[in-house]
Amino acid sequence: MFEILPIPAFKDNYIWLLIDGDRAAVVDPGDPLAVSERLRALGLQLESILITHHHADHQGGVPALLEHWNAEVFAPAAESITGRTCDLRGGETLEILGQAVSVLAVPGHTLGHLAYTVPGALFCGDTLFGAGCGRLFEGTPGQMSESLGRLAALPDETLVYCAHEYTEANLRFALAVEPNNRQLQERIQRVARVRDANQPSVPSTLAEEKATNPFLRCAQPEVIAAARRQGAPDSSPVSVFAAIRQWRNAF
Ligand code: ZN
Ligand code: FE
Repeated sequence: MFEILPIPAFKDNYIWLLIDGDRAAVVDPGDPLAVSERLRALGLQLESILITHHHADHQGGVPALLEHWNAEVFAPAAESITGRTCDLRGGETLEILGQAVSVLAVPGHTLGHLAYTVPGALFCGDTLFGAGCGRLFEGTPGQMSESLGRLAALPDETLVYCAHEYTEANLRFALAVEPNNRQLQERIQRVARVRDANQPSVPSTLAEEKATNPFLRCAQPEVIAAARRQGAPDSSPVSVFAAIRQWRNAF
């Protein structure tokens, strides 16, 4: 299995660097300089680029990286991705650094959004975040809640390598939704210590997300009650998700 390291970029992005010996792959290289510097420092050859969706902070570094590296660019077929060499729609299995990587379609944040997973690790771009989820720029609440359900069905011990350090702000919102969730209160303490030490709060585990992320807890009574207070017309998971997501936008 490859090693996984974060490359911090911009204000709060993580570009994930996958390493096997002197071979490397990157997920969502928005910033080419940050990636090139790290590849050079570690003496790595870039073989593959995985793109989750079309936003510039995720794909913007591809053209510059392709000037130096003859890398495959795996990306959503449904989105405009500069330099894409392999069209993906979800359901495919790729070989990255000798590992079988499954591709999942997770529409919601954008319509072509993909997630990539190997046993034990999930690269989910802007779909699932630490204690939160991506904004619905293109998809519907129904699409996003189905996509999150697809990710939540992966094994509990799966590490969630999302693309942004948003966990602390997301946890403040999660506590407004579920003030009585003990595991959430404990996670807030834990993440505060990690961030005070300038360490990433990600990856988390899927088990942790299922216990504390309100967007994965739309069937919990306290979350349903909070959504109803925010105007959810009924207690169905999609109505609850939609109300919570809208509340988060204004929080
Ligand atoms: Zn995005
Ligand atoms: Fe992003």
